Amino acid sequence: MACYVAGDCFRLSSLFHHFKIKQSLRNDGIVLYQYLQNETNILPYHNYQPVIGLEVHAQLLTESKIFSPEIAAYGGEPNTHLGPISVGHPGTLPFFNKKALELAVKMGLATHCQIQERNEFSRKHYFYADLPKGYQITQMDTPICYSGHLDIEVNGETKRIRINRIHLEEDAGKSTHDIDPNNTLVDLNRAGTPLIEIVTEPDIRSADEAYAYLAEIRKLLRWLGICDGNMEEGSLRCDANVSVMLKGATQYGQRAEVKNLNSVRNLKRAIEHEVMRQIEVIDGGGKVIQETRSFDADNGTTFSLRSKEDADDYRYFPEPDLPPVLVSQSYIDGINSTLPALPQELYKKFINEHGLPASDAKILTEERDIALFYVNLTGFTNNYKAAANWVIHNVQAYLNEKGVEIAKFPITFEHLAGLINMIDDGAVSYTIANQQLFPAMLLQPQKAPRVLAEELNLIQQRDVAVIGSIVQQILDNNPNEVARFHNGELKLQGFFMGLVMKASKGIADPKAATQVLIEKLNQK
Ligand code: ADP
Ligand code: MG
Repeated sequence: MACYVAGDCFRLSSLFHHFKIKQSLRNDGIVLYQYLQNETNILPYHNYQPVIGLEVHAQLLTESKIFSPEIAAYGGEPNTHLGPISVGHPGTLPFFNKKALELAVKMGLATHCQIQERNEFSRKHYFYADLPKGYQITQMDTPICYSGHLDIEVNGETKRIRINRIHLEEDAGKSTHDIDPNNTLVDLNRAGTPLIEIVTEPDIRSADEAYAYLAEIRKLLRWLGICDGNMEEGSLRCDANVSVMLKGATQYGQRAEVKNLNSVRNLKRAIEHEVMRQIEVIDGGGKVIQETRSFDADNGTTFSLRSKEDADDYRYFPEPDLPPVLVSQSYIDGINSTLPALPQELYKKFINEHGLPASDAKILTEERDIALFYVNLTGFTNNYKAAANWVIHNVQAYLNEKGVEIAKFPITFEHLAGLINMIDDGAVSYTIANQQLFPAMLLQPQKAPRVLAEELNLIQQRDVAVIGSIVQQILDNNPNEVARFHNGELKLQGFFMGLVMKASKGIADPKAATQVLIEKLNQK
């Protein structure tokens, strides 16, 4: 027997009609709803296994479009990034942008794909106002990359998601339905901008796994400079194919495709809702139909857009105006040699070789420039944990406060590492470094930290004679407290230490000061 709050109970009872609700009145006046369950009658949701495959469209960061020379950048005055090829004037011929190939191959190598040797293009036909040619040039049988995988981490466990293919294609224009009340407005600037579509096998088993996969793909695309990953502006888009099957079944259920997911969080919400909806349909004796659905982010539900087209409906045929693009092994090797260390490699290295906690390694590998900064910093100090802490806390705090990228961080690796080494040598205390020397370095980044520390009198005072005279002065000035200490109020030692540190402007070496203080108190 399980209890739910009333709202859940009613929702579930309408969902799963064969469940019984028992209502009872507790003696404190609260109405209890109990959800009755026995061995033969278990919660339907737990009987089903979600199965998910994702299709991710990423706009490539090329300067020009994929088959024509116009600007590929986001935005601009509507219908200004246009030319005769991208609007499909008769007699024009597309030609292939090599930069798009390079970026697609990069992503393929980073996701352990095979790279296609002979790349052909196809026309995919459909009739829509924002598709000026009446067809989209895409790859059908020969995707540029195929048979790869990406590892994701969910709840501390690693899971491999197979990538079926990555293919190159051109984007369509954009229709806007909500500016003019009577008309749909079409902006063709985006028509012909290069995309890769990354398609997984149906290996994803939960909304959380889908979330982790998309976040990892986005990180990788940004890391490699392939796509800016901006889901709000639509340069990264994700469609989720969702089905459910009874646990232990060997055949997948019928899938529905959910579009319009404009954030990683909305992908998760949409899948959660869609899985519940399909279970409800099946549990109510109905059938899930193959269709395209849209996600309404305001109320967290999906709704039907249209029944799904089959491949036949698109009348695919080979693009006759583009010769096949041939990719040689030496070309692939060349790109491979330019690939930077990937986030997952660095993540493992930071844990295994630098001894960092997984949480630090994760933060440091979220963005390539941050990871690179940390790596460069560790070229000048072996105190990896301290280097990680300075990057994660102090450097990030500065970047957040100023709203700038790490490229604008004023202190060099040498100087920041110098600061870390000064703390390790005891030349400055951590507190002084954190509160005074680091802020001073931000203002005068050209100065070495040691020079600055000397100028500002921040070098830790370890001279026992100097500390001794400060301690003596404090004890002489506070005879009452000294007497109380001798009468057994031993915690006053902290009070004296506070005064010593204050009198030394924070630079007295606390260890030496404690030792001197104890000696002097015992002499009295
Ligand atoms: P289409 O061209 O119709 O979109 P694809 O074969 O390219 O079809 O598959 C699209 C996506 O659907 C892939 O990511 C694939 O993993 C996923 N998929 C296929 N079958 C199922 C299923 N039964 N349940 C969930 N996802 C599925
Ligand atoms: Mg598809």
